[in-house]
Amino acid sequence: MNLYKIGLLIDGTGNYPKEACYLAVEKGRIAGIGRAGDFSQEQVAEAADYSRYTVMPGLIDPHVHLFLEGIPDAKARSLRWKEDKETTLIRAVNNLTKTIRQGVTTVRDLGGPHGINVLLKKVVSQGVTAGPRIVTAGQAISITGGHFHYAGGREADGTDEMVKAVREQAKGGADCIKLMMTGSVNFVRQDAGVVELSLLEAQTAANEARRLNKTVAVHANGNDGVRQALAIGITTLEHGALIDQATLDLIVASGVYWIPTIVPFERMLDYGRNHQTKMLPAHGIETVLTNHQAMIRRAYQAGARIVAGTDAGALGVGHGDMWREICLLSECGLPAGAALYAATGLAAQAIDMAGEIGTVEAGKRADLLVLADNPLADITNIKKVVKIFKDGKEYGHD
Ligand SMILES: [Zn+2]
Repeated sequence: MNLYKIGLLIDGTGNYPKEACYLAVEKGRIAGIGRAGDFSQEQVAEAADYSRYTVMPGLIDPHVHLFLEGIPDAKARSLRWKEDKETTLIRAVNNLTKTIRQGVTTVRDLGGPHGINVLLKKVVSQGVTAGPRIVTAGQAISITGGHFHYAGGREADGTDEMVKAVREQAKGGADCIKLMMTGSVNFVRQDAGVVELSLLEAQTAANEARRLNKTVAVHANGNDGVRQALAIGITTLEHGALIDQATLDLIVASGVYWIPTIVPFERMLDYGRNHQTKMLPAHGIETVLTNHQAMIRRAYQAGARIVAGTDAGALGVGHGDMWREICLLSECGLPAGAALYAATGLAAQAIDMAGEIGTVEAGKRADLLVLADNPLADITNIKKVVKIFKDGKEYGHD
């Protein structure tokens, strides 16, 4: 057993932090949390001293694309679709490193070319390479020519193909099913508002996913697409950047986990301001971002379950940007404690892993983030990473 003397413990449940406590870790899991008197004198004498630090659960990013780097330039990015598989794979391994170094100990990969994300999941779990724990959707499912089909997506049309596409992902090792309900916020195609999957196709895919005990993550931006997503019964709503108040009310009432992914919109705005581009005109993106932030603010106040997720690999979003999403949620009115909960305990619920990760409680996996300063006092302290533990093992100390 390893014992740690901790200055401040934020346990990821959303409750008040504990000051000056001891944390016991055994066989990769949290064995207990208590005072010095709860442990033997010898154990206390040998405890690692983290009394100057804040300890919290390792972060969970439930929306990443590991195969892809967040290249802001759309042309350079499109060349990557043509790259050979081996190069893509090596880039993805580098992305694993960038991710865990910032304190993210679990990611959910929401779509990539066939086989890559499930392979990464396997090699990380076997210890072949270091990285965050991975759950994945395998390939994202879209209609023929739909959003993200060019990025190794599974195109499917009609109900029979939807069933087949879902079963293929399950067979390939997917933990959840990702459906592309609408286009993206892209000012060339102007397709963010287009509902791509028919209601029948979307419902069939969601039913099949549930039958196979998989959660359902849906990409939807336009108002009608978000409404259709809520109608079929989903686990997580991804983006939702173009919604109105009535749809916001439905999000709150449905209890869905909403992953608004603010950071890609901020990065697109930065890029639009610095480059002449038809694809990302700054004024257009700015309007989208401002409305999105206003809706997130209202949603939080109304009791929505808002979860932090970066969409790492999207235009301009790197695999080291989780800190920024957490800060942006805080700027949208989430108190620091709620912004941290959105990236830990609540995120674990959203990806159906709350029994294993997301909180520092007895029995959970010992995924821990050690910070130099308290992020409840200043949310940007989330960047001050001192050490990272996954399954009780310190990252970089194999
Ligand atoms: Zn995405």
